Amino acid sequence: MKRFWFLLIVQILLPAQSGFIRDANAGNALVINRQANTYNLAPHLSSLEDRQGTLTFDQIRHTAKNQWRPNSDATVNFGYTDSAFWFTFELISPDVASQNRVIEIAYPVLDHIDIYQVSADGKTLHTQMGDKQPFYRRPILHRNFMLPVTLVPNAPLKIFIRVKTSSSMQIPLSLWEERDWMATCLNESLNLGLFFGIMIIMGLYNLFVFISVREIYYLFYVYFVFCMTLFLASLKGLSFQYLWPQSVQWNDQSIIVGLAGAILFCALFMRDFISLKQNRPLASKFMLCLAAVCAIIIGSTFFLPYRLMIQWTILTAMIAIAGATIIAIIRWMDGDVSARYFMLAWSAMMFGGIILAANKFDLIPRNLFTENATYYGMAFQVILLSIALAERLNFEKQTTLAAQMEAYNQERIARKARENAYRIQKQANELLEQRVRERTIDLQQANALLEALSVTDGLTGIKNRRYFDEVYPREFKRAIRDETPLAILMLDIDLFKKFNDTHGHLAGDECLKMVASKIENELHRVSDMAFRYGGEEFCVLLPNTQTQGAFIVAERIRRQIGTADFLFNDHKTSVTISVGLTSRIPGKDQRPDEFLACADKALYQSKRTGRNRVTVYNADDN
Ligand code: GH3
Ligand code: MG
Ligand code: MG
Repeated sequence: MKRFWFLLIVQILLPAQSGFIRDANAGNALVINRQANTYNLAPHLSSLEDRQGTLTFDQIRHTAKNQWRPNSDATVNFGYTDSAFWFTFELISPDVASQNRVIEIAYPVLDHIDIYQVSADGKTLHTQMGDKQPFYRRPILHRNFMLPVTLVPNAPLKIFIRVKTSSSMQIPLSLWEERDWMATCLNESLNLGLFFGIMIIMGLYNLFVFISVREIYYLFYVYFVFCMTLFLASLKGLSFQYLWPQSVQWNDQSIIVGLAGAILFCALFMRDFISLKQNRPLASKFMLCLAAVCAIIIGSTFFLPYRLMIQWTILTAMIAIAGATIIAIIRWMDGDVSARYFMLAWSAMMFGGIILAANKFDLIPRNLFTENATYYGMAFQVILLSIALAERLNFEKQTTLAAQMEAYNQERIARKARENAYRIQKQANELLEQRVRERTIDLQQANALLEALSVTDGLTGIKNRRYFDEVYPREFKRAIRDETPLAILMLDIDLFKKFNDTHGHLAGDECLKMVASKIENELHRVSDMAFRYGGEEFCVLLPNTQTQGAFIVAERIRRQIGTADFLFNDHKTSVTISVGLTSRIPGKDQRPDEFLACADKALYQSKRTGRNRVTVYNADDN
């Protein structure tokens, strides 16, 4: 299993190598026919390891043939090494005309490459390449290392190549026919353009989506896409060619920053996207650790050697891919929908890797599709993840909408309940108010009755003495204020004791009622008031009435009573009354009781002078 992952990673990280024409004559001069377009040089070269890296070209040139180790494989790969490596091979053209060919080393991250061409006449041409040199120094400005060579007919051309590099010592070496190489270049450019175009557009598109939706996992995804793009562009030598052709040091670092950044943001993205924090805390911690390790790698890459850092990064990448796959499968089995999408996208990338690996192991033929399967896989992964993101956003939106609808419904129910409660409360209040109103009216009526009772004489039904005491001072003051005359009549039934003695007290009571009613009947003005003053004595107040007018009223009352027949128990009898009268505009210094005493005095005058008469108070009489 581990070996599988390792191979997969190596295949993903390595640039596509051409599947070349195999040649059995390893070690001997390679005969270049005009008809054959492309040669894989790997099986035709011999190598020599220079452990100290101190050997010069002259020393190498004269090294015995048995020191060289012929390479019989289709590829050249010595892994990570501190040694310098020398490679040599010989080309010969049987053609009648010179052939223009191009040697390609299709691994753009090699540090130092020295190529020596030794022609048949012993002339040596030295060319320096490698990504530790500014880009424009290359003989052909291409992302891979290209060297044009001219094959003179039947003159063998011996090539020596020295490579020293901190990257892995892979030398995908081939010889191209010029036109064929240009056609392939165009094809490749289209493919690369398509791939990087997709990556950049997906990155930008999702960046805009992030700006509008502000979901953090979108941002992680965008960073992941951009880091992945940076990594692949640097690995392909494209960023060195187009972005920083002078920055040889950063060119190395950009590969590590890109890959470690991609792992970092992929880990953060996954953690959010397949909800590890809530559901799988251990996996969530693993992702955070991974992110932290990548952050440390990115930081250290500016201080520590490239060799060390790239090894750490690749190890981390292997752990990350294995971990991410397992965790995504676990989340899928948990029933997480996002995990299903994630696995689909992830598989696209893996599938690309597997296709390429199968191609390398010669299980499937080499063609445009298998050659670029990794890149297509990556592009598909990015596109599928983008769709998954949109799907998830949609799902979240719908969930939110459903929750909002639910909340709205709850709110509506609650509002209805509140309204009901309010209505009931209102009804209760109205009922209460109604009751209170009714009670208040009852009370007011009761009060009015009480009030009336308290000022009414119980026997005769006219106003009582208590009310007189209340009204009289008021009327007295008004008369003073208005300077109008106030008349007072004091009335007393004559010989009533005897009446009682003769007819009984019940008859006496009836008589009192009759007298009161007669008195009231004779008062015609609204302001006139009759009172039972006490016992068989009555009092009448006549505001704004002169003596003369008061006398007429008094006479009328006296006459009405005196002439009325009083019927009681079939007995017919009659009573008379005596009246004392006084009327004047009261003086300011006069007291009400003094004025009342005047009427009383007049009443006694009436009694004294024979009863059944009206006497007007006269001060001179005293
Ligand atoms: P005078 O002509 O001098 O006024 O003689 P009088 O008998 O009317 O005078 P007096 O003051 O001596 O008597 C008043 C009587 O009135 C005494 C009482 O029996 C009677 N009386 C007072 N109040 C009531 C009452 O409410 N009902 C009855 N039936 N008699 C009453
Ligand atoms: Mg009396
Ligand atoms: Mg009397």
